[in-house]
Amino acid sequence: MNFTKFPRRKYLQGQTPIESMPALSKVLGGEVNLYVKRDDLLPGAGGGNKTRKLEFCIADALKKGADTIVTCGAVQSNHARLTAAWSAKEGMDCHLILEERVKGSYKEDASGNNFLFELLGVKSLGVVEAGSDMMAQMGIKADELKAAGKKPYIIPGGASNEIGALGYAACAEETMTQLNEMRLGMDHIVVPSGSAGTHAGMIVGMMGVNAGIPVSGINVSRIKDVQEKIVFELAQKTAKKLGIENAVKRGSVVCFDQYVGPGYSLPTDSMVEAVKLFSQNEAILLDPVYSGKAAAGLVDLVRNGYFEKGSNVLFLHTGGSPALYAYLETFR
Ligand SMILES: *Cc1c(COP(=O)(O)O)cnc(C)c1O
Repeated sequence: MNFTKFPRRKYLQGQTPIESMPALSKVLGGEVNLYVKRDDLLPGAGGGNKTRKLEFCIADALKKGADTIVTCGAVQSNHARLTAAWSAKEGMDCHLILEERVKGSYKEDASGNNFLFELLGVKSLGVVEAGSDMMAQMGIKADELKAAGKKPYIIPGGASNEIGALGYAACAEETMTQLNEMRLGMDHIVVPSGSAGTHAGMIVGMMGVNAGIPVSGINVSRIKDVQEKIVFELAQKTAKKLGIENAVKRGSVVCFDQYVGPGYSLPTDSMVEAVKLFSQNEAILLDPVYSGKAAAGLVDLVRNGYFEKGSNVLFLHTGGSPALYAYLETFR
């Protein structure tokens, strides 16, 4: 795949590690060999997957002459944190619109990512109620900024458009390069599936390098059919942008929705267990909203024999651990 066709900043310092997780594999029965791709270790304050997407989105903003970024997210959004971080680094202003997806969940003095928004110097932070049209809300903010002489650029939630998803198509290529160097065959990749750019990008990238490795998503909010459709449509747009000839097949988009629990960002027992399994066996910190629920899915699929005996499975750790500090009670 040729990524040089697109504006791109250089936020990555190289490949993120692929590590084996022998202790966790053993605790889960020893029949599946688990590996982890450490995108939680990506650069950017606090790390995590949005850095790969923002390499492309912020480059596009700069190319278009923007001096200000407007984006949105939930009240503990890692995407909002990383957008604030890279905007700061670029000398751009950053404005956030936060959706209070769970009523009463926005707390001005909350820890975790909320604390970091402020520390990273966001210029404004607006909170809107669940179900608001976030694009419209960001549009209003952008108009306000334009009227004040600024040049705003809107990055959609999670940076999940075909520009941001390029970051994960590139991650798929990076992963395949590493696996080839390691002489390590991988049978399956498991990723969290939220605003969908990560999942869609990985599917397209794996297709782009002809890897033949299935990429399954673990949903963090939506039901299976709805999420698969969102991932599929974004994957198609991303493949088109990359000029990949073969069409993305609907059947290559597979999501699991049984680990969402009562809803987005709401804790589940299996998430708490997964976070503890990773921390206590592999010294890896997950998060309560995304990687913790995705790991709960991974753990359950391993226990239920979804993966063939002896297979190698790679878990994409998308980061998010700063949100742990807003969920102390959940883990105590
Ligand atoms: C945003 C996010 C995800 C989900 O990625 P999408 O591209 O939005 O599907 C997963 N994990 C963490 C920690 C995130 O912040």
